[in-house]
Order: sequence, then structure tokens, then C-alpha cells
Amino acid sequence: MAKVPCPYCGRLVDRLIEGQCEECYIERHPLVLVKERRLLRCKYCGAVFLGGKWVRGKRGDLGEVARRIISEKTSIRGVLEKAEVSQSDGEIVINVVVKGSPHPSIEPRSLSYVVEFEYEYDICNTCREMLSRREVALLQIRGTPRGLDDTYKKKILNIIEQELLKFKDKKIGFISEIKYLKDGLDIYTTNSNLARHLAYVLHRQFPSSIKETAKVVGVKDGRKVYHMTYSLRLVTYKPGDVVRIRGEEKRIVDIGSRHVVLYSVETGKYDQLTISELLNSEIILIGQ
Ligand SMILES: [Zn+2]
Ligand SMILES: [Zn+2]
Repeated sequence: MAKVPCPYCGRLVDRLIEGQCEECYIERHPLVLVKERRLLRCKYCGAVFLGGKWVRGKRGDLGEVARRIISEKTSIRGVLEKAEVSQSDGEIVINVVVKGSPHPSIEPRSLSYVVEFEYEYDICNTCREMLSRREVALLQIRGTPRGLDDTYKKKILNIIEQELLKFKDKKIGFISEIKYLKDGLDIYTTNSNLARHLAYVLHRQFPSSIKETAKVVGVKDGRKVYHMTYSLRLVTYKPGDVVRIRGEEKRIVDIGSRHVVLYSVETGKYDQLTISELLNSEIILIGQ
């Protein structure tokens, strides 16, 4: 039989299918067509929204739901033989194998495709309910006498991030919001234990004091619901600062995690105060 060239790739073939060779036809008629490229994902638990429902893989692993994503978000001509997640941050990439044929005169065969979806972040109904129902707590971090600069804020957020990694698989709640203020940070958590824990971790690392306040914000199932606030005041005095403390002018010589060493300009004597004594004294920064 005389061979004919494919007008697309130039290959010599026995027959053309709708004006092209089999290979070109297969390439131009994929067995997987993406209907919807966006995939809603819960930013807290990693669940994805499929077929009107939030679907969670075991331990947040989307490997098990890859097949469902493919069957919901694409149309397939043939049999889905394999769906494997190969990447899942910011977007999800799924390697797909489908057995089928794009044309009656082409023998069915297994063909591989790489399908990508973009995550669009939202909050699933379970997490939304948890957020609204559970005790909410605030960790308020401020500097005194100077507000916290960006370097300080970055240090604090790094420590918090390390701490959260330790609790990754434990149900201790999560941070629902971080507000960056000019002089400090407001960190909201869904669980007061988490806020308290973070407050004490930071307290151990910085010269600081903690104050707890509880406010009743409602009643749920006969139980009072509290909004806890942990105020962490970080000492931002520096060696060399001159302060007026209890009416006396003193220079700050050294600041440790528990104590501060002061030098009295008037008497020439050194003395030591605890951080909480320092913070609870009448003190003003008068120079440096
Ligand atoms: Zn061709
Ligand atoms: Zn969720």
C-alpha cells in the first residue's frame, strides 16, 4: 500500500485519520480534558472541595484523593488506570494514566498525562465551625519602652514557627490571624493553651513579663466561653540607656533574661533589679 505523509509531522503512514497520522491525532485529542483548573483547599486542614463536599485525605495526604480530583475536575475518555500526586504546594500536579482511544479506528492504549490544578484557599466548614466555636485567645506582644521593630518581629515569628512545627500533628489548635502593628504583634489562636504556650516560650527567650486576662464572651452548652489575652511585654531597653527610676537617674549597664544591672549616676553605685521589678517600677527613658 502506498504510504502517505502526515501534513503535521511528515511521517509516512498507511493512512490518515481526519487528515493526520495516528500519533498526531492522539496528541491533539487527549483522553483527559480539564473542566476546572481551580481547586478549593482549606488553608487550615488541607481538605479539598470536590463534588459539593470537603474531602480530606488521611493525615492531610492528598494522594488518596487524587483519583477523586481527576474524576470531578476532568472528563476522561477511557478507563482511569492511575492518578498519582507528584507535587502539592501552591498547585497540585497529578500524573494520570488513562486507557482508551480518541478515535474508533485507533486501538485503545494506555496514555500518560500530567494534569495541574491551582489551589484557591478557603476555610472548610469543619474548620470554620471550630474557629467560631472554640475559645479564642490573643497573644499580644509589645515592647517597652521602644516598640518592636521588624528585626524583633521576625525573631519572634521564627520562634513561633519552630514551636508550631513541634506540634504539627497534635491537636493544639492553630493561629487564625496575625496582626502586624507598628509597635508589636497581635497573634490570635483558636486555642488558649496554644497562646499561653507561645507566650511562655517567648517569655523564656526574651527579658519580658506576662499578664493573663480572661473575659467571658458567652455561654456554650452551659459552659462559659472565655476570651483569653496573654500580654507579653518585652524589655527593649539597651545598655547605655539613661532612665529615671523611682526618682533616681540611672544608666542601664546590662540586661539579661532575668535581671537588669543599673548604675546610679548620682551615687556611683551599681544595683540589680529583676525584669518584673523593672517593668513594675515607675520608670522613664530620659536619654541614651
Ligand atoms: Zn503526524
Ligand atoms: Zn479545614
